Amino acid sequence: MSRLVDALGDSGLGRFLNRAQLERLSGCMELQRCEAGVSIMERNTPAGFIAFLLSGDVQVIKDNIKVACLSAGNFFGEAMFSAEPIRVATIQAVGAVEIATLTVDGFEELLALHREVALRCKGFFEALHLSNQDKLQGDQTKYVALIAHNSMKPVLADFAKAYKHRLNKFPLVATGTTGAMLYQATGLLLSCKVQSGPLGGDQAIGAMIASGNISAVIFFRDPLSAHPHHADIEALGRLSDVYYVPFASNPVTAEAVLDYLEQGTESCFANPSFDQYVSHQAAVVTEA
Ligand code: PGA
Repeated sequence: MSRLVDALGDSGLGRFLNRAQLERLSGCMELQRCEAGVSIMERNTPAGFIAFLLSGDVQVIKDNIKVACLSAGNFFGEAMFSAEPIRVATIQAVGAVEIATLTVDGFEELLALHREVALRCKGFFEALHLSNQDKLQGDQTKYVALIAHNSMKPVLADFAKAYKHRLNKFPLVATGTTGAMLYQATGLLLSCKVQSGPLGGDQAIGAMIASGNISAVIFFRDPLSAHPHHADIEALGRLSDVYYVPFASNPVTAEAVLDYLEQGTESCFANPSFDQYVSHQAAVVTEA
């Protein structure tokens, strides 16, 4: 057990508990070995214990995707200390692993015998749960994308000056030169910045549309000039249609899009024909 106490002391918990307190905690934990490939925790099942990885590695799997890998010295399964103690991911042993678990009963015992230690552990695991939940969920932000071709940048600057208070209500992303220009001209701060358009910025915004991170695109296009990254601009417009994202290509439609964003999408009228078209599109992709 002294090996477990040493390892717990080296973990983040070591900052909140002294050695004597760590010994009390370890007295309520159980050691276990798991072979490679074993699922130690299953997503969507009740979170009845928290585990500390003494040796080996585990992978964190969500929707059949490995979202993280944890090595010795880490806790996992801290959902036990959340308001909804349900596993949010599956945890699988990569090779043979040794873990020390603290079950709900073990925690109750700790609470009865060493209340102070139990409460400190609870605070630590609750904080761990919140920070890991953010990481697991990834970026859920919905950005308004701002882009302008060079000759349209002054037009976007005027628009942003006039509607700075409205634009500021939303997290903003812009392509490289547009973002720099907007900051200089209006002081508008971005929440996220991507490459300059001709260097892949429009494609980066397209990728954000595909991952559900764009609520609207305001792209003041110059209709009278040729652009080397024409294909990227086309692709961005196409993805807006695929994902049902409002795309404003001039100040008049941009104003309408701002109105739409401010009124909230729930108030938009349901369009069954469009929904049918979207399902048809999905079917075409599945069949392809
Ligand atoms: P820029 O890119 O903001 O880096 O100028 C815009 C574009 O031309 O797509």
